[in-house]
Amino acid sequence: MVRENFSFETKLIHNQHSVDPWTGAVSVPIQHSSTFHQGDFESFGKYDYSRSGNPTREALEETIAHLEGGVKGFAFSSGMAAISTAFLLLSKGDHVLISEDVYGGTYRMITEVLSRFGVEYSFVDTTDLGKIESNLQPNTRVIYVETPSNPLLKISDIKGICQLAKQHNCLTFVDNTFLTPALHRPLELGADVVLHSATKFLSGHSDVVAGLAVVKDPELADKIGFLQNTFGAVLGVQDCWLVLRGLKTLHVRLRQSQESARQIAAYLTTVPEVTDVFFPGLKSHPGRRLHEEQAEGPGAVLSFSLKDARAVKTFVEELRIPVFAVSLGAVESILSYPSKMSHGAMPVEEREKRGIHDGLLRLSVGLERAEDLIEDFEGAFAALKRESQELGAWNRGAI
Ligand SMILES: *Cc1c(COP(=O)(O)O)cnc(C)c1O
Repeated sequence: MVRENFSFETKLIHNQHSVDPWTGAVSVPIQHSSTFHQGDFESFGKYDYSRSGNPTREALEETIAHLEGGVKGFAFSSGMAAISTAFLLLSKGDHVLISEDVYGGTYRMITEVLSRFGVEYSFVDTTDLGKIESNLQPNTRVIYVETPSNPLLKISDIKGICQLAKQHNCLTFVDNTFLTPALHRPLELGADVVLHSATKFLSGHSDVVAGLAVVKDPELADKIGFLQNTFGAVLGVQDCWLVLRGLKTLHVRLRQSQESARQIAAYLTTVPEVTDVFFPGLKSHPGRRLHEEQAEGPGAVLSFSLKDARAVKTFVEELRIPVFAVSLGAVESILSYPSKMSHGAMPVEEREKRGIHDGLLRLSVGLERAEDLIEDFEGAFAALKRESQELGAWNRGAI
């Protein structure tokens, strides 16, 4: 029983898959079968082989399609599998235009794999519609956007980009990992394909690697369905269930983490050791107004800059609460170091050109108490200050 007028929070709990029609179970059954008996010699049933379709996977795929406002969803074995499969819509000689500070794995897929198959690409600052327009080529088939971008949280105008894409007869892909449909629904703004690393906020507990794609056009859905089945990077049923379980608390997790992120971002702007804070919820963020028009909140990821790699090392070693790791969007706060982690795949010159320097840290705020996180940060900044004072004294010859 799907009631379209439910609010997003309620849809997370009450949707087509909230009650199993066979048993009344309120948790989606995990169907481990790889193959399905065909009772009728002449006509086959809905399911035949689990790569092509499985009831547990279908529950997740229908749920994400419902939440994103699309016609069909697809579940993959990772975010990169979802992104790479969507890129298989391209053919030799096609051109793709991509956000400059895109996820490192996406950068690698485009520059080192698609390029070998004759797909051309341009990286563009997608916050600037003029730059997009001037970089469109007659063979541009896809504009690929991340907003907020990773790791500098730059905001791109999805509606404006989709309009340009339509005029040039190309598709718009949006990686919605950072905001999720709880805060941002790109299909409603005109995008054609929404992609997710469901490893992050959607599942939310750092216990599963998964990817999703959602489309709103039935013809495009058929094409992606064909590619999903052909390439075969589907998500296993246990993992589908983990994502489904995580989704039920998406809204409360994100709301809480976002609130803490606001507090932490505001705090960071007052710290002398921090040279920059990037967070679309800050008044000083250049994309803030645009972001507020197209999304329902800034999300729970922010970045900030320290002086250099040495300062980062001291700071990270002093912290006790956040885990120091790749990934984001989890119950635990995750501090990561883009230049060595998510963007380690990017050549140094490319990285620095994009502003991803050695002093930059990215924080994904979890569900710890914000005051505890701030206190932890204060301790680490105090250590940084002591270190720089000692260094100053040393340089002056006082030690
Ligand atoms: C993590 C991430 C990906 C890749 O997803 P995996 O599940 O790790 O394959 C893609 N885009 C963004 C924005 C991400 O954060």
